[in-house]
Amino acid sequence: MFGILKPKVYVDSICNIDLKKLKKVKNIKGIIVDLDNTLIAWGRKEIDSKINDWIKEAKRLKLKLCIVSNTSSKRVAKFAEIFEIPYSSNSFKPFNSPFIKAIEILNTAPSETMVIGDQIFTDIWGGNRLKLFTILVTPIVKRDSIGTFLHRNFEKIIISFWLRRGIIKKEIGNWPK
Ligand SMILES: [Mg+2]
Repeated sequence: MFGILKPKVYVDSICNIDLKKLKKVKNIKGIIVDLDNTLIAWGRKEIDSKINDWIKEAKRLKLKLCIVSNTSSKRVAKFAEIFEIPYSSNSFKPFNSPFIKAIEILNTAPSETMVIGDQIFTDIWGGNRLKLFTILVTPIVKRDSIGTFLHRNFEKIIISFWLRRGIIKKEIGNWPK
């Protein structure tokens, strides 16, 4: 059920994605990453030092990053500038166009491209439709925009159903092992 919404991997935080191992095990060269509640707590301005280190590690390993966010350009542009990575804002995920645009920016093949985000109805759905490798993360904070309230609740129901049935599992600690 809802297979198109199902992430390939489910981790607690983006920092649990071991980039060195990822590069070794999967042939990933480009990462499309969500902003709010994936890289930055929703509504906040502070950058978590661990997440900042994770981004630095990606760059050191020559993994290309692109932020794709449905959030307003001003907020996304600000963080993209701090992290020094390209971005696409006001993106209308899960539609194809922002993901296609990001793949063009990254200049990677779909098979070499990963999507990381905290929402199955935007990040994971969009990534799966284009056959990109999708990773779901737990939102950094529980707060979120009012517009996402309804599907957030629906999302919780689907994810707990999957977990109960063993359709997906949440990785404990780092991934890949
Ligand atoms: Mg998000």
